Amino acid sequence: MRTHLVAGNWKMHTHPKEGLALVQEILSGLGKAESEVWVFPPATHLSLLAEPLAQSPVKLGAQNAASAAQGAYTGELSVSMLKACGAQGLLIGHSERRQLFGETGKVLNQKLERCLEEDLTPFLCVGETLEERESGNHMEVVRHQIEEATEGFDGEALQTLVIAYEPVWAIGTGQTASPFQAQEMHAFIRRVWAKKFGESAAEKIRILYGGSVKPENAAELFGQTDIDGGLIGGASLKAADFLQIVQANPHYDL
Ligand code: PEP
Repeated sequence: MRTHLVAGNWKMHTHPKEGLALVQEILSGLGKAESEVWVFPPATHLSLLAEPLAQSPVKLGAQNAASAAQGAYTGELSVSMLKACGAQGLLIGHSERRQLFGETGKVLNQKLERCLEEDLTPFLCVGETLEERESGNHMEVVRHQIEEATEGFDGEALQTLVIAYEPVWAIGTGQTASPFQAQEMHAFIRRVWAKKFGESAAEKIRILYGGSVKPENAAELFGQTDIDGGLIGGASLKAADFLQIVQANPHYDL
């Protein structure tokens, strides 16, 4: 069975001390988590959070990294630097990176390579815009994003990869995909994965839903067959909300 996973993407919010207080609150309310839990704070917080989180079941990730391994790239941070500061995973291709910073499939493919070289868990984010959904192109868009990002890798190399399906129109808008819309896309992504990497890899890959997940809608979304958890933006900044979402694990009682 796939382990349920809930991850918080803090985006460019909180200062380091506020981030520390937030993880302390999360840790004190977590109890016996039946899910895998990750937080993705700003890179400036990694070293500070690495120590309290090292003694805990919560894993630490980075929101972005350079596509190059090192060199004259002023202002950039390499995957190995982030790993040295405590990152165990990396978000790749969040729609804000694609849309606001022009990240292309080719660049994301390079970031994935850097991530795998350093043994970090890649979280590949995919998702269509409203226009793409309304024109009926949403599935092809997502298929193309997966194919571009994973080009040249085999299923074995991608064993640890997690996919986050985040419809762009649902991110930070309060408008959530319906459980039907989300399940339909998640099942499609699993079929795309099966075709590329085989049935067994597709059965194992975790596909998270992201886009205005809140305590009120998490259980219904997470109850869908192909939804293995969530990538949470806004609601991950309040410990109580994030914890309620973590606890909305449909396998909790099994
Ligand atoms: C995100 O940015 O990954 C996200 C899902 O944001 P929100 O939950 O705020 O829609």
